[in-house]
Amino acid sequence: HLSKRLQAVSDHVESGSRLADIGSDHAYLPIYLAKNHIISYGVVGEVAKGPLSNAISEIKKAALLAILQPRLADGLAAIQPNDNINVITIAGMGGNLIRHILEAGRAKLTGTEKLILQPNVGEDTVRRWLMTNAYQIKAEQILAEDGHIYEIITAVKVPQKVSYTEKELKFGPFLIREKSPVFIEKWQEEVRLLERVISNMQKASHKNTQKINLISDEIQIIKGVISRES
Ligand code: SAM
Repeated sequence: HLSKRLQAVSDHVESGSRLADIGSDHAYLPIYLAKNHIISYGVVGEVAKGPLSNAISEIKKAALLAILQPRLADGLAAIQPNDNINVITIAGMGGNLIRHILEAGRAKLTGTEKLILQPNVGEDTVRRWLMTNAYQIKAEQILAEDGHIYEIITAVKVPQKVSYTEKELKFGPFLIREKSPVFIEKWQEEVRLLERVISNMQKASHKNTQKINLISDEIQIIKGVISRES
């Protein structure tokens, strides 16, 4: 039984896929997908020995060693050409780390893989990397679980770069149109946080007016997005 977050990630994996789950930790996601016959093959990549040995024992327990290949590797180095991977999942880490893994592993990407990315923070960094590298965002999802709000971004390589506006990069091209209750909640929380930052900055003896103005502008942008109907 998966967490709501990993369940949502798994929902984007099409039946018959060959998956590489990078930074798999306990391998719950690939195990779930293999057990349910959604993937026919999976690479379980981990950079750290502790998590990899957890993954190996979970895979053994589930008797899935014939389908799931645990590999100790940094990022996309876990993938070999004859794995014929067509879906890559990278979940549960910061956007900067996801961007770094993709950037460092560019040579491993054939351009035919669907990327399913679930950054815990820094979603804009991930979207910017996708745009720069000619990926098109195909779907996005936002969900709340245990007091956290998570975003999932799926993308595929396209022949021509797609350009996204600054707002789309920050809020998500699909999420900003959908404006779901969880999306509104996320950005209302961000507004409250930024307002606290400003009020603390106002109390300081040496006010950084420039910074205060920048944050105020950001608050106005967010408020514009979550208040408008369009
Ligand atoms: N993907 C799982 C999930 O979403 O529940 C586990 C997330 S866990 C918080 C992040 C994992 O990524 C850790 O086990 C860590 O060792 C691994 N990791 C971090 N950097 C990595 C890298 N460059 N290559 C492979 N794995 C990495």
